[in-house]
Amino acid sequence: MNPLLIVGAGLAGAVLARQLAEAGLPVQVIDAEPRIGGNCCTERDPQTGIMLHLRGPHVFHTSHEEVWRFINRFGEWVPYVSRIKAITERGVYGLPINLHTINQFFGTALTPGEAREFLKEKTVRGKNEPSNFEEHAKASIGPELYKTFFRGYTVKQWGCDPRELPASILKRLPVRFDYNDNYFDSTYQAIPRDGYSAVIEAILTHPLISVSLETPWERAMRPFFEHVFFSGAIDRFYEYAEGRLGYRTVSWSFATLVGDAQGTAVINFPGLEVPWTRMVEHKHFTPWERFDNTVISKEFSRESADEDLPCYPKRLEADLAVMRRYVSRATSDVGVSFIGRLGTYRYLDMDIVIAESLDFAARWLAAHAESRRL
Ligand code: UDP
Repeated sequence: MNPLLIVGAGLAGAVLARQLAEAGLPVQVIDAEPRIGGNCCTERDPQTGIMLHLRGPHVFHTSHEEVWRFINRFGEWVPYVSRIKAITERGVYGLPINLHTINQFFGTALTPGEAREFLKEKTVRGKNEPSNFEEHAKASIGPELYKTFFRGYTVKQWGCDPRELPASILKRLPVRFDYNDNYFDSTYQAIPRDGYSAVIEAILTHPLISVSLETPWERAMRPFFEHVFFSGAIDRFYEYAEGRLGYRTVSWSFATLVGDAQGTAVINFPGLEVPWTRMVEHKHFTPWERFDNTVISKEFSRESADEDLPCYPKRLEADLAVMRRYVSRATSDVGVSFIGRLGTYRYLDMDIVIAESLDFAARWLAAHAESRRL
C-alpha cells in the first residue's frame, strides 16, 4: 500500500494528490462515494445530455494567477459571467445589489453618487461596529433591501436567526453603485467545457496516483499509512470526541421539462413563501450547447444529520469553540492533516481551496524533504 493517503476525491484532495505525485511521491486517494468531484461534481444527464451541477451551481471565479494557471492545465475553461436574478414579492430583480436593483426597487433613477447618498440615509448603525450578518446588512444596504433580498433567504439557507451568523457570509457579495450585475468581482470567471468532474479526473490522472471509490475512511486504515490527509469533516474524523460542529446539508429536487423553464441559470427565492432557496436551470451554464429539453433543480437546505453529506459550515459562536478544540487536537496529532472546506471547517470558494492545497502541498513537501535529510 502507498504510504500517503488522501481521504476525499474533491478539489482539495485532488490538487494535493497531484502536487505530491508530481514531487515523485505515490499517493492513494479514497472516496466513500461512487464518483469523484466532491461537492462540485458534474455529470451529463443521460436523458437530455445536459451537464448537471449535481451538488448546486458552481461558477469558477478567481483573482489568483497561480490558481488560474493551474486549472487551465486540466481542461478547457469557457469564459462565463454569473448574473443572478431574485424573484421577490415585489418583482424580479438582478443580484448582486447594483444600481439597477436600487433604482428598480425604490422607483428612482439615481446616479451612482446619488444612490450612494440615498442608501447611506437608509442604513442603520448601532454604537459599535456591525458584528453579525443582520447588523452588517442594515449598516450597508438598509433594512428594506435586507428584508427583501437577504433575511428570508438566509433564514432558509442557514436555519437560524441572521443575528447569530457572522458578517463574513454577507461580505461575500458585493454591493455596486453602477450597472455592473456580475455576481463576482474576480479577474477570471469561467465554466469548464466538460464539467468539473472531468477537470478533477484530469488532475487525478497521474501514474503515481491511485483512486479507490466507494471506499469510506476507517480508523483501522491509519497504521498502514505514513500520513493521512483528510478532507472530510474533522469532527467525524475524531468521532465527535470534542463535540459536534454545525453544518447545513443541501438537497435538490430535479425535474426534466420541455423548452426553457426560467430563462437563466440561477434564480434566488428570498421569500419565506417558498421552501427552496434557489432554482437552477443547468443548460444555461453551457450557452454554447443547444437543447430542446431542460433540467431544473430546486435547492433546499436543512440541518446536517450524521448520515448526511455536510455542505456549509455554520460557524456559530458555539461551533467555533468546538472547532478550537479540534484544531488543538489535530495540531498534536502527528501523521494527519486536515484540508479543504470540511477539514478546516470554513466556507471556502473553489479557488481558495485550490490555492490552499497548492500552498499546503509546498509546505508539507518542504518539511517532508527536511525530515528525510535529518
Ligand atoms: N444571500 C441572500 N440572498 C441571496 C443570495 C445570498 O440572503 O439572494 C446570502 C445568504 O445568507 C447566502 C450568502 O448570502 O448564504 C452567500 O451567498 P452566495 O451566493 O455566496 O452563496 P453560495 O452560492 O456559496 O451558496
